[in-house]
Amino acid sequence: MRTPLITEIQRFCLHDGPGIRTTIFVKGCPLHCPWCHNPENIQVKQEFYFHANKCRGCGQCVGACPSGACTLDHGDGKGTRREATHCTSCLQCVSACRFGALEVVGKAISLDSILQEAVSDRIFYQNSGGGVTISGGEPLLHPEFTHDLAYRLKVQENLHVAIQTSLFAEWEAIAPLLNHVDLFIVDIKSLDPERHRQVIGGSLQTILTNLDLLLKAGAQVRIHLPIIPGINDTDLDFELYAAYLGQFADGLIGVDILPYHSYATEKYRQLGRNYQFLGIPDLSSQQVAPLAHALRLQGIREITLGGMGGSTAAGKSGGYKPLEQRRDPLPRPVHLPQGKGVVVTQL
Ligand code: SF4
Ligand code: SF4
Repeated sequence: MRTPLITEIQRFCLHDGPGIRTTIFVKGCPLHCPWCHNPENIQVKQEFYFHANKCRGCGQCVGACPSGACTLDHGDGKGTRREATHCTSCLQCVSACRFGALEVVGKAISLDSILQEAVSDRIFYQNSGGGVTISGGEPLLHPEFTHDLAYRLKVQENLHVAIQTSLFAEWEAIAPLLNHVDLFIVDIKSLDPERHRQVIGGSLQTILTNLDLLLKAGAQVRIHLPIIPGINDTDLDFELYAAYLGQFADGLIGVDILPYHSYATEKYRQLGRNYQFLGIPDLSSQQVAPLAHALRLQGIREITLGGMGGSTAAGKSGGYKPLEQRRDPLPRPVHLPQGKGVVVTQL
């Protein structure tokens, strides 16, 4: 099994599932949402951030590049950039920089090391009803890795396991996780099939079919709705969301409305990418309030703005049940054919 690169193992997270959590961010996503708040997790390959404020314009990075892909932009007397067409991600420029202006994004970390880091906060998980969340990027782009990690967290370590996903994957990549994942946090970015295909990438139908299968299998599912200006923020979009999710009101744990914010702007700049939402103001909670109202009318049992907030302490939570307490019998695990769907990560 080839493991994906990891961009971050973030401890004490409060918005990625119930309680205090450790969130593991894997690199690589099959979609290309132009507002992505974690752009460093879109590409499978290793990249680097350029911290312009640390750059002295010494040119060591240019001299170290064996591919002629690293050039200095002397517009402000310093700076560097990478030519994507030539760059081989060898990272020799990063090693050459003595001023910390170049930072590697995405590291190869063994499953054992990830597990060791994740279990180190067990006491906090126990006291808060928390656990570990596998996020990205898209964890389902790396089905064998995600399955193995979830298995070890759940079966070997007896921790609460959540996965954040778009469900844009083959069902065969999702089904094995039913035995090891307590909570699926599913992003639904648009209910317009054409917009989904053109702007976000991938088939909306695949996602909705997988969501239906997940709920029929008795999985615990929470929906994330990122509300983005010009993408899904009209009254019609809100009505569509409410009507669609209303049919699953009894099965869903809840819905988290995530109004657009511009916090990722600096990441795009540091990665040397264009940010299409530059200058577009954040959405306020008032602007998404009609969506919350419409969802409430449809009987959605828990609706939050901005995520769960870690308030679901053990024994107090609305709706969460550990995997082993679920009523429905779990489907038998489905084993992936050797190598199926595995993304090979290369530097
Ligand atoms: S990563 Fe390697 S190829 Fe790319 S710019 Fe740096 S030194 Fe050049
Ligand atoms: S990125 Fe580092 S090595 Fe390159 S010019 Fe700036 S300070 Fe020098």
